[in-house]
Amino acid sequence: MKSLKNLLSLGVAAALGIATFASTASAEAPSDVKEIKAIQDRGVLRVGVKNDVVGFSVKDPLSGEYTGFEDTLATLIAKEIGEDIEVEFTAVTAATRSELIDSGDLDCVLATFTITPERKKNWDFSTAYYQDAVSVLVENKSEIHHLKDLLGKTVGVSSGSTSAKALVQAMIDNKILDGKNFNADKFDPATWTEGVKFHQFDNYPAISTALAANEVQAFCVDKSILNIYKTPSRSFIDEKFSPQEYGVVTKKGSGLSPFIDGLIKKWLADGTIEKLIKENNL
Ligand code: GLU
Repeated sequence: MKSLKNLLSLGVAAALGIATFASTASAEAPSDVKEIKAIQDRGVLRVGVKNDVVGFSVKDPLSGEYTGFEDTLATLIAKEIGEDIEVEFTAVTAATRSELIDSGDLDCVLATFTITPERKKNWDFSTAYYQDAVSVLVENKSEIHHLKDLLGKTVGVSSGSTSAKALVQAMIDNKILDGKNFNADKFDPATWTEGVKFHQFDNYPAISTALAANEVQAFCVDKSILNIYKTPSRSFIDEKFSPQEYGVVTKKGSGLSPFIDGLIKKWLADGTIEKLIKENNL
């Protein structure tokens, strides 16, 4: 039975001539879709999330419980697949999250995962549920205040992240680098040496430690992640750049992808996502 709310939203969508996939999807998860049936049979939606991004997804070390915007979104998705579907959270990093989708260990990932045209070739991304931007965190004593002050410095980034490329692109856009040898498709932080060098780490706490030890002079990633490592003795440089839109990631061509996309669109339209963003102080 469709709830009154669903019927009303169906009616409004019909009146407006809007495709009603999202609304119908929320009323009845299509069990004839093989990836959805597998989750219903298992009774568990396996989701990759971060465990240390405050507001987005944090794992309580004592209870093992995950809380945050992305965890709540995952729980809502599970409910739409079936009332009794449980969520099994797995902590992922920028370096591990896509492999776990490819291997079939995870059904989806909600982990500050930026939608990019290159990534869209290999994985399905839902419509964006959040937008952030990249910035740079430095020690106050370093006297680095602007992008241009990063010349000659080593910057800590996470392996598998968009950060290094975004930083080089921003330095080119701001005419700090000429960009002659920059190729967006082939860019590799490991071999880039013009103007700045990169040191890649497997996780963010390791970058923070390296920043404190001056092994790197700057820590570059999305502002929402950097906020966690901001202390009174550290500052952000003045610039923010490269919008980062986060989407739910699923296996390329999975039947789960259009279903989740429909839900995200519905929750953007009905204010659910805005409410969760506010509740998590994002
Ligand atoms: N959001 C960025 C990315 O997807 C930063 C890395 C991260 O999410 O950990 O590359």
